[in-house]
Amino acid sequence: MNLPDLQDKADLLYSKALRKSKADHRDMIQCITCPTTLHWKEMECSHFKPRKHKTLRYLGINTQCQCPFCNQRHNDNTEPYMNWILVNLPAGTLTLLNKKMNDDISSLDYRILLDETIKQSKLILK
Ligand SMILES: [Zn+2]
Repeated sequence: MNLPDLQDKADLLYSKALRKSKADHRDMIQCITCPTTLHWKEMECSHFKPRKHKTLRYLGINTQCQCPFCNQRHNDNTEPYMNWILVNLPAGTLTLLNKKMNDDISSLDYRILLDETIKQSKLILK
């Protein structure tokens, strides 16, 4: 499979696994940045640092569930998501994300990351 197709597959499976794993017993999830609660299928996997930063694309500390409205708004205003990270994730998470976002990854290592993400997501979705 070529890299763009493999990435599409990893994106789909990772997003689905994240949203399903965050859902409660009624299959519902509350958005991290507003009171909206939706079925996991209507929620979105939101990236704090954009997906173009490949080493952060499938990293748990960079991906949370947001409603479509907040996920869209995050592009213009990152503060609500940033505040959520400060309150809910270990101290130093923002520094780590800022440091790692410029990391380079070779095509070979990226392919390995994609394979691992697909494998892990499938296990979570079992
Ligand atoms: Zn929201």
